[in-house]
Amino acid sequence: MFPGPLPFFPVGVMFDLDMAQGTLYIVSTPIGNLEDVTLRALRTLKEVDLIAAEDTRRTRKLLSHYQIHTPMVSYYTYNRLWREKYLLRELRGGKNVSLVSEAGTPGISDPGYSLIQAAIEKGINLVPIPGPSALISALSISGLPAHNFLFLGFLSSKSGRRRRQLKGVKGEPMTIVLYESPHRLLSTLKDILEVLGDRLTVITRELTKKYEEVARGKVSQLLDKFARAKPRGEFVLIVEGKL
Ligand code: SAM
Repeated sequence: MFPGPLPFFPVGVMFDLDMAQGTLYIVSTPIGNLEDVTLRALRTLKEVDLIAAEDTRRTRKLLSHYQIHTPMVSYYTYNRLWREKYLLRELRGGKNVSLVSEAGTPGISDPGYSLIQAAIEKGINLVPIPGPSALISALSISGLPAHNFLFLGFLSSKSGRRRRQLKGVKGEPMTIVLYESPHRLLSTLKDILEVLGDRLTVITRELTKKYEEVARGKVSQLLDKFARAKPRGEFVLIVEGKL
């Protein structure tokens, strides 16, 4: 029986996996609540030789909670290039490494993507350890159609570029999912209102955390609501597609 979809490798790397090399595990971790971690993620974090973490302080909390003592190094936007060289050397030497992002699934709108690409180029075996991701959690309670959707990650911090990005998806019937930081929430909502119109939108805030909140309404209503006090926390925006 056909076992399922074949993994994708760039041409030239397909038959080049060196089994003496270590494995890079892409480990999903909680987006807030420490109980949202899988048994397999905990075992993997315990058994690998090294953990590469985007935010060592946040990952340390998870590791301490579950009494995991694996050595950890930082891997984030500003040390990415030289840390990548070190991690690839370790992997090629046979060490197993877990990549962990600040929260959720590594590689989704975070620097993990760069290490994943570099590892593929070197023919290193990659194994996903699935678990939480903010976009899927938000979408799952949005009530907006989710049989297909368009994930845009973070829009540009520059308004002109952001509007052009929104114009590009204006005619899109699929539900649109965005990440946004608290200090850009209001300006992004204003741009959505101007470019896409007053669409039904769901804003999720601080999912799985103490101040978890879900707000549903037209963009104009949500703008009014979030303009009343300085937005705080982490947000996912889900905007209905063009009707
Ligand atoms: N890789 C992560 C994932 O799989 O979800 C996303 C990383 S991205 C750098 C961080 C963004 O995810 C935040 O700015 C926010 O938009 C969203 N996010 C993360 N945790 C969240 C939470 N608990 N509630 C709502 N949004 C969250």
